Amino acid sequence: MTETLDIKITKTTHSRLAETDFDNLPFGKTFSDHMFVADYADGEWKNLQVIPYGEIGLSPAISALHYGQSFFEGLKAYKHADGKVTIFRPDKNAIRFNKSAERLCMPTLPEEIFLQSMAAVVDLDREWVPSKPNHALYIRPFMFATDPYLGVTPSATYKYMVICGPVGPYFSKTLRVKIETYYTRAAEGGMGYAKAAGNYGSAMLPSRKAAEEGFDQLIWTDAKEHKYVEEMGAANAMFMLDGKLITAEAKDTILDGVTRDTVIALAKEWGIEVETRKVSVAEIIEGAKTGKLTDAFGAGTAATIASVGSISVDGEEYFLSDPKTREFSQKVLATLDAIKYGRAEDTHGWNYLVG
Ligand SMILES: *Cc1c(COP(=O)(O)O)cnc(C)c1O
Repeated sequence: MTETLDIKITKTTHSRLAETDFDNLPFGKTFSDHMFVADYADGEWKNLQVIPYGEIGLSPAISALHYGQSFFEGLKAYKHADGKVTIFRPDKNAIRFNKSAERLCMPTLPEEIFLQSMAAVVDLDREWVPSKPNHALYIRPFMFATDPYLGVTPSATYKYMVICGPVGPYFSKTLRVKIETYYTRAAEGGMGYAKAAGNYGSAMLPSRKAAEEGFDQLIWTDAKEHKYVEEMGAANAMFMLDGKLITAEAKDTILDGVTRDTVIALAKEWGIEVETRKVSVAEIIEGAKTGKLTDAFGAGTAATIASVGSISVDGEEYFLSDPKTREFSQKVLATLDAIKYGRAEDTHGWNYLVG
């Protein structure tokens, strides 16, 4: 049995729940009533507490602002028909959280703090977990350096926080994507496998340029040759080619996605051959031309399964089949949803019960 941590709880005296429009939830704009905060100092995590959501005071010299010692996680809590609230596979995020921490010379966080901090906020804010289909409470744990010191050296103090907000579907349409062959997201030896804040800042210019060209997302390619497909925006790129599920191997440059891992596990159970390997742009385009590419999607917690409608490279656009007719991604999405929302038996033990 894991010990129950001592988390101090201060409840809000003014809930914003009643004034929140649950029919209009643009991603990341609405926050629930409470948040979790803990401080790292003298080599340990302390002051574990849940407090009302709100602004925090910080020195303008913190290393997180100047040198990017900052990273995050993203998970979702789902409401079942019987009122139960569960978080999907948070143990996986706990492991990845610490991989990110180590890459950025930041302290790791004990798994119990990671799990119980989220559970504490979500339980207190369980009325904020939407019950509508395709809706969830998005959970954002993050850590950042707080030393008020401009020296380029790892901070000695940090904050770990969790904020949450109700969300609806992330993408409402089939995506028009572009294969990026100039900019890179991650290089070997870099920090692509970490959910580091800096990775997202550097992706903004290429993403904006792609948007200006009319694309919804871009598919990153390897930094060396731009020959191999890596990720799709902030989701893992997955393809069904010639009856096999293929996706890039989760090494240096690839974020080891929980959704990716879950899709792979389900595919294997269904007897589908899975290949995690280098996936070349050439074979994807060839597959799109011959029709052997029967499915292409981004996999991630925020986006779930985001279908790709067309792939463009070097000014040429290749259209794929109507997503509604795609057997694999439709089945994967339906299965995932059934498990997350408690309509199917959770035979894998993926749902973490809150409260
Ligand atoms: C978060 C993220 C993913 C998806 O990971 P999940 O654990 O499935 O949410 C994939 N790629 C990048 C770059 C990400 O930031």
